[in-house]
Amino acid sequence: MSYAAFSHEIARINDILCAVNLMTWDARVMMPPGGIDARGKQIATLVGLARELATGDALQRAIEDARAELAGLPASDVRVLAVEQAAQSIGALARISAALVGEAAELKTVAQAAWAKARAANDFAGFAPMLERSMEMQREIAAALGGGEHPYDALVSTYEPGMTWSRLQVLYGELRQGLLPLLAQAREAKVRSEILERAYPVEKQREFSSLLSSRFGYDFDRGRLDDTVHPFEISFTRSDVRITGRFRETWLPGGLFAVWHEAGHGMYEQGISEAFSRSVFTTDFINLYAVGGASFGTHESQSRLWENRVGRSRRFWELHFDDLRQTFPDQLDDVTAEDFWRAVNGARPGFIRVEADELTYDLHIMLRSEIEAGLIAGEIRVSDLPEIWRDKMKAMLGLDVPDDRLGVLQDVHWSSGMVGSFPTYTIGNVMSSQFFAAACKDTPVVQGLETGDYLPLKTWLNDKVYQFGRSKTPSQLLVEATGSDLSTGPYIADLKRKVDELTA
Ligand code: ZN
Repeated sequence: MSYAAFSHEIARINDILCAVNLMTWDARVMMPPGGIDARGKQIATLVGLARELATGDALQRAIEDARAELAGLPASDVRVLAVEQAAQSIGALARISAALVGEAAELKTVAQAAWAKARAANDFAGFAPMLERSMEMQREIAAALGGGEHPYDALVSTYEPGMTWSRLQVLYGELRQGLLPLLAQAREAKVRSEILERAYPVEKQREFSSLLSSRFGYDFDRGRLDDTVHPFEISFTRSDVRITGRFRETWLPGGLFAVWHEAGHGMYEQGISEAFSRSVFTTDFINLYAVGGASFGTHESQSRLWENRVGRSRRFWELHFDDLRQTFPDQLDDVTAEDFWRAVNGARPGFIRVEADELTYDLHIMLRSEIEAGLIAGEIRVSDLPEIWRDKMKAMLGLDVPDDRLGVLQDVHWSSGMVGSFPTYTIGNVMSSQFFAAACKDTPVVQGLETGDYLPLKTWLNDKVYQFGRSKTPSQLLVEATGSDLSTGPYIADLKRKVDELTA
């Protein structure tokens, strides 16, 4: 009964965290603005309760009893793995005080609302005090977790186990060296980007992007699509995995690719082994968050794979452009599949990260990572952020940021207390090419991509990535599925191939 008691305790924590996810989804999609303060308190109460259960005596006893019951079984046994993984992450969680966890959870909801208001009004000064408090809290969390050479390491590794600021700087160096020449080359490509800025009714955009999401394998019987300011995916077990999009009438790719991106996240969560529902392997104890992905970077690799490796490929548009033209006959009357493929791959430095092309996206991440590392180390002050942002944008992308809405106020992350999560977007980009290259060694996958049958690819990902939830580390998943650990080679090769085709 001991392992059963342990599983029961974990399931209760997971249930609470799924309820928090639902309340978060509601706060960002449905809730009237007046609900904010009460919702912040409700979420803080539930997260506090989850923390109490996770660090309490009952679970500790259950862990010890389960260890006794499972003694003698190999470390690879899934029950042993569950108990040891729980013990380890709960140990880390216990280093962050209950008061800090509660305050962080409450601040998150309130600060997100303040951010949305400040962003709409282009009012950084109005948001700065809350951001200052949020950063103080992140510094406290980093200090409590400890470890690492740089204070940023503790925060980064809560999202990406094993990642450090020094490893990131090496990764960023390789990417700069690989991507900057490609960006210069890509600017020579002939691209009719104006075709993406015609008036595309939002309702039709939603229809088309949903249809293709279904064809990829996102299951609408266990999911739904809504509109938000900042697209996201969130799950309440594998049987209810929701995504949101943001559509703009005069920027077609913004809506389409955001939906496919989130559908990629969604398929990962929907594909996690049913046996792992309400278990350690769908619970992030350190962030007190119900999620099934192995890490934030692994999660992002799956969204990027569908968005970019599939959705921006030449073959994809050869296959599906006719459907798109039937959806928008007037707007695309004078456009070919080739024109469209070129347009959605055109590289043009812009202000907004979520709308950035593949060649500039990682530069947006590097900018944010450098700022975060500086903030956490106490080298950058919140009040200086708008100016630092403008300087870095000028230096990295050659752009003059006209206002903070298009600059430092564009992302939800800092208001959410998610300092250290930006690097996982670049890690995800890099991993997406590694997984995709490995999948394309499988003949049915290649044949499927050739004919628009995405089931073989989804099945491959299910077998190699999705099903395992958090029972394997990102590094294990990569090595077992692709034969090597994190490596920039396949990503730079994918982008080089594309730029060469665009400029041939
Ligand atoms: Zn994502």
